[in-house]
Amino acid sequence: MNMTATKGYAAQNATAPLGPFTFDRREAGAHDVQFEILYCGVCHSDLHQVRNEWKGTTYPIVPGHEIVGRVTKVGAAVTKFKTGDLAGVGCLVDSCRECDNCKNGLEQFCRNGATGTYNAKDKKHGGITYGGYSNQIVVDESFVLKVSEKLPLQNVAPLLCAGITTYSPLRHWKVGKGHKVGVVGLGGLGHMAVKFAASFGAEVTMLSTSASKEEDARRLGAHHFALTKDAEQVKALNSTFDFIVDTVSAPHDYNQYLNMLNVNGVMICVGVPPTPMEITGFNLLKNRRSIAGSSIGGLPETQEMLDYCAEHSIVSDVEVINMDYINTAYERMLAGDVKYRFVIDIASL
Ligand code: NAP
Ligand code: ZN
Ligand code: ZN
Repeated sequence: MNMTATKGYAAQNATAPLGPFTFDRREAGAHDVQFEILYCGVCHSDLHQVRNEWKGTTYPIVPGHEIVGRVTKVGAAVTKFKTGDLAGVGCLVDSCRECDNCKNGLEQFCRNGATGTYNAKDKKHGGITYGGYSNQIVVDESFVLKVSEKLPLQNVAPLLCAGITTYSPLRHWKVGKGHKVGVVGLGGLGHMAVKFAASFGAEVTMLSTSASKEEDARRLGAHHFALTKDAEQVKALNSTFDFIVDTVSAPHDYNQYLNMLNVNGVMICVGVPPTPMEITGFNLLKNRRSIAGSSIGGLPETQEMLDYCAEHSIVSDVEVINMDYINTAYERMLAGDVKYRFVIDIASL
């Protein structure tokens, strides 16, 4: 098989900083789209996996699953894309496409295991998948998203993970007018949750550990802001929310937020701290509360989300960085210092 030399950035082990790395990608096959990557968002999941916080990382790892760029080549059987089109790839590059979940557009729950964009076994082509911290990618057209020319491309990249991960549960639970929603953590996912929940008509409260983020939270669409380190402010919110979206990446006390749920309230956990959550039974049974999770979104819903964003001019607020800033960006992300997504300008590679 012919291969294309690809420039990327990789971590060689759990404690090494990321640095330049070259590797080969396959040539575009009949069903493949090849595209030049222009921007790639930086997700906290990249950091979790680079540092092996979830275990099971294979090195070298080339992270990145918020990928946008311009098509350079399409296979003979490709119908959705042509050279020069904008294209996006999120967290998935393949799945079995035959199980019930795949057929229902829930590829993220493929019964035979979906293939992640990086750090995943590539069942079809062999080896380990390498992600978007690289200058080009080849993906089956079924897993490539259409990207509108209307929106600034660097601000679209984070929609491919942070966007769909927050859009999907809000749609699933039909969040909208008349609902009070709390969003925990104002980072990449959190700022998209605020934008979507507000756009869907809910009354949104930002629940943050950073007093400095209040003004931004309101600008992003939050109607209220609470500093969760302040016991009085927390107490005032007990039994008030219909939904809480918890986007926190680090271990934290879930009970504090669970107590804020009103009768029949649902706490939707999308953050994945490295350690198990501890929940007290009484906090769950009071108000008949539920705890739920949600994982990214399937391909049809990801396209629906991108189209919704194009129609309603919703994008991520980003800080564009050069590739060689990535290790500093990770440290800032760990410190909660993101406004509100780092996006790599791949031209800097
Ligand atoms: P991020 O940009 O780093 O944002 C996380 C935010 O959480 C921080 O900005 C901070 O906001 C808050 N936070 C951090 N440490 C905290 C602590 N100890 N206690 C309370 N709040 C804290 O991260 P992200 O990219 O949005 O990702 C968030 C989590 O979602 C990660 O675990 C990631 O792996 C996961 N994720 C899940 C899915 C999925 O499919 N479910 C998809 C993508 C990512 P404040 O300063 O406002 O407190
Ligand atoms: Zn992600
Ligand atoms: Zn499947």
